[in-house]
Amino acid sequence: MLWQPSLSAKYQAMSDHDLARAIAQRRAQLGNDLLILGHHYQQDDVIAHADLTGDSLKLSQLAAEESIKRATKYIVFCGVHFMAETADMLTPSDVAVILPDLSAGCSMADMADYDDVVTAWEELHEALGPDFPGRVIPITYVNSTAAVKAFVGAHGGACCTSSNAAQIFQWALNGGTEPRRNGEAIKLLFLPDQHLGRNTAKAFGFHTDVDAQLASNGKLAETAVWDPKHDFGGLTDQQIQKTTVYLWAGHCSVHKLFRPEHIDEARQQFADAGGIRILVHPECSQEVVDKADFVGSTEFILRTINDASPGSHWAVGTEMHLVARLAKQAAERGVNVRILSDCHCMCTTMFRINQQHLLWALDELAAGRVANQISVSDDVSEPARLALQRMLDNIAAAPPAAPQLVD
Ligand code: SF4
Repeated sequence: MLWQPSLSAKYQAMSDHDLARAIAQRRAQLGNDLLILGHHYQQDDVIAHADLTGDSLKLSQLAAEESIKRATKYIVFCGVHFMAETADMLTPSDVAVILPDLSAGCSMADMADYDDVVTAWEELHEALGPDFPGRVIPITYVNSTAAVKAFVGAHGGACCTSSNAAQIFQWALNGGTEPRRNGEAIKLLFLPDQHLGRNTAKAFGFHTDVDAQLASNGKLAETAVWDPKHDFGGLTDQQIQKTTVYLWAGHCSVHKLFRPEHIDEARQQFADAGGIRILVHPECSQEVVDKADFVGSTEFILRTINDASPGSHWAVGTEMHLVARLAKQAAERGVNVRILSDCHCMCTTMFRINQQHLLWALDELAAGRVANQISVSDDVSEPARLALQRMLDNIAAAPPAAPQLVD
């Protein structure tokens, strides 16, 4: 996590209303030079100032298009660090991308440290040995640092999002950048979210490490967690040989708070009201996803609730600010939406971006200073863009299929 100096007392003393008014004035003053992006998990008073809202990749793609149309000079990304890096890599080089609070990182992205990934790659290949008849293809969720994306791009892999992870899995299993040869073994290293990796592997019919623990029938798991804190990921030689999908030991601290028992409680509570549908994000654990009715990306969650019939009840397992906003909008159509658990399921790093920091970043721009610019060097952005481009080429060739209904 980067260090953000404290703001001057002036910002702390302002009321929410005064902050909102001052931000609106700065936006008007900066005009088309400025584009503000707001991630879906942002708090309401910040999202109210956004020109564009969306999930991380959608925002970066929209920003790339919009910044050219509007001749934008500055993008202020109200999200977290890796999102600003992606925006910097996808937008023209003369556009400055700004993160209003440098300490807004992503705990999941930080769990895959570049040096640890290099070590894992070397150990994995050492354990597989020179006679291994195949390739390991790395895939990284976009929720990763630019350095990890660069590693993946330089080693024949691709990025994925939660809406196209299955498509990228398929691409990699088919051989990725080179078609799979007859008899060639393909193994995947999935970074940094073990849950998205495992849930996707399960949808492909792999016997996961969680399935193996639950069934305890001796059937060997085809997925295994690679824990960088231990030599060889903490895996035995046999596990390394037998595993098809190595899952990096990373997770989202928000989505891991949802538990299968929350689903049982919600179903019980709504048993006399015609039942409740459970809709969760694939960053939740396999145990939660297995019990849910629907699983899909943030955009899928938004579409599903927007299409829900009046009178229906929904429990949604994702970040609380997004669910609260959805619940408010859905209530106007007679759709009852609540969060899956009343645990405080909030992205605390995203929450660091508040109106105070947004105003400060805009004040700096108005004074001719670019504060907190996030800039990815060419030697990193070139291979990282390769990984992003392979994903975008896959989506362009065939848009992702609708997320699955879990029965
Ligand atoms: S919700 Fe989870 S994955 Fe998303 S930014 Fe926050 S910590 Fe990272």
